[in-house]
Amino acid sequence: TIGENLRRTVERVPDRDALIVRSQGYRATYRQLWDTTTAFARSLIALGIKPGDRVGIWSPNRFEWVIAQYATARVGAILVNVNPAYKTAELEYALTQSSVSVLFLARRFRQSDYVDMLAQVRDRIPTLRIAVVLDDDWDRVLDMGKDVSASDLEARERLLQFDDPINIQYTSGTTGFPKGATLSHHNVLNNGFFIGEGLRLTENDRVCIPVPFYHCFGMVLGNLACTTHGAAMVIPGEAFEPRLVLETVAAERCTALYGVPTMFIGELDLPDFDSFDLSTLRTGIMAGSSCPVEIMRKVVSRMNMREVTICYGMTETSPVSTQTGADDPLEKRVGTVGRVHPHVEVKVIDPETGAIVPRGTRGELCTRGYSVMIGYWNDEGATKNAIDRTGWMHTGDLATMDDDGYVNIVGRIKDMIIRGGENVYPREIEEFLHTHPAVSEAQVIGVPSAKYGEEVMAWVRRKPGANIGHAELTAFCTGKIATFKIPRYWKFVDEFPMTVTGKIQKFRMREIAIADLG
Ligand code: ATP
Ligand code: MG
Repeated sequence: TIGENLRRTVERVPDRDALIVRSQGYRATYRQLWDTTTAFARSLIALGIKPGDRVGIWSPNRFEWVIAQYATARVGAILVNVNPAYKTAELEYALTQSSVSVLFLARRFRQSDYVDMLAQVRDRIPTLRIAVVLDDDWDRVLDMGKDVSASDLEARERLLQFDDPINIQYTSGTTGFPKGATLSHHNVLNNGFFIGEGLRLTENDRVCIPVPFYHCFGMVLGNLACTTHGAAMVIPGEAFEPRLVLETVAAERCTALYGVPTMFIGELDLPDFDSFDLSTLRTGIMAGSSCPVEIMRKVVSRMNMREVTICYGMTETSPVSTQTGADDPLEKRVGTVGRVHPHVEVKVIDPETGAIVPRGTRGELCTRGYSVMIGYWNDEGATKNAIDRTGWMHTGDLATMDDDGYVNIVGRIKDMIIRGGENVYPREIEEFLHTHPAVSEAQVIGVPSAKYGEEVMAWVRRKPGANIGHAELTAFCTGKIATFKIPRYWKFVDEFPMTVTGKIQKFRMREIAIADLG
């Protein structure tokens, strides 16, 4: 279980840094992390939380989040990660859908007053017994458990089974409404361990984690990969900010840095990028969405992340299924999402027939193994749609696999454009547009067309100071990519509609584009 594993790490490296949260001035060694987790776990028992009860946490990246993650697992509660960007309707949905009985929340995040938002919906969440505001009550929270004895907690820990559910993780909401994946100790602990192995983490590593804890990228690739290896978790702040990330890497001498591609783009685009000392970086993870090859090259050469790996996965599979290796040749590390993780199977199938397609042919990626979730919380129908009778998770992602087993993600089935009967893969066009020196980021979608069914549209964020328009970009494409792939519509933007996990929501881009085009 997660608690046993953490205890083993604490015994091995008690005095190593475990958790540093720069925005809160918080630092804890593994021993201190363990002691605080123990105190919090006793408080959870004092609050009457029983095994299997849902405990919500609604907070940006703060140290209390990590404590709650380990403490809830130690008492057998199911942690419900509530997205920090939620507003009242979504909050009500998540808390009701998973019938949360105790909620820990931050007072506020950015413009949102969480306490006020909760007050607006609280009457409609009958299961919610207790809400604790972490900012006000932290010391009191730890104090609450002082009458719970060590043996009470141990008795509770002895009841735990490795396949107990411990977490309801909501997906990013990139393609629509988030779904709650129910995950066990076994699911996430093993996945975190193998991710850390892929990065070759040891107790000498210090991992900068600017991705949100509420998402598996923060909680599993971040926290669990570190604690299974005795590495330090280094948190820049509550939300992603490129400058803060690079300052943190330099000040804390981080050896690894995580991010989704747009985060790395933001960091590389900083005008004073060269003034940050990134010489301690060795590795890191880029994941969550497709990484343009050009960006990956820069991460290796300019950020010094020579062993950087790409991970691919989804919340429903704990999350990682494939990862590039630290020793893989650069072209595999920039061009693929790596090979299958230990103890996981992957296959690429024809979505119509279910048959495995030949190597190099596009199809739907499916995965199977210890990492596949227990199911969507309270949604048997959706679970049956996603996991077939033989245990394969159908990812909804289009992929190819080469002869050496390296997987390439081509896009999402939902994002594929069908223009006049021709399949157009947005990713290909995006990759090409990224080779233009004035393009900082490009995203391609399909918009309805009376003539072709769908037409290609590109949204482009230009480099600071660059002033190119659609005529130059069309000319740039002409003769280099097939005519049917050249975007018919262009839109120049400063930002893209995004999830808190930093993923671009193409379904929102399509809504905006359809409104724009009338
Ligand atoms: P939702 O399911 O709510 O629409 P989501 O699928 O983005 O949102 P996550 O579970 O956070 O929710 O993300 C998993 C998805 O992210 C994968 O199915 C895949 O489409 C994409 N993805 C993850 N890693 C990579 C990667 N390395 N390259 C390309 N795509 C990736
Ligand atoms: Mg998904």
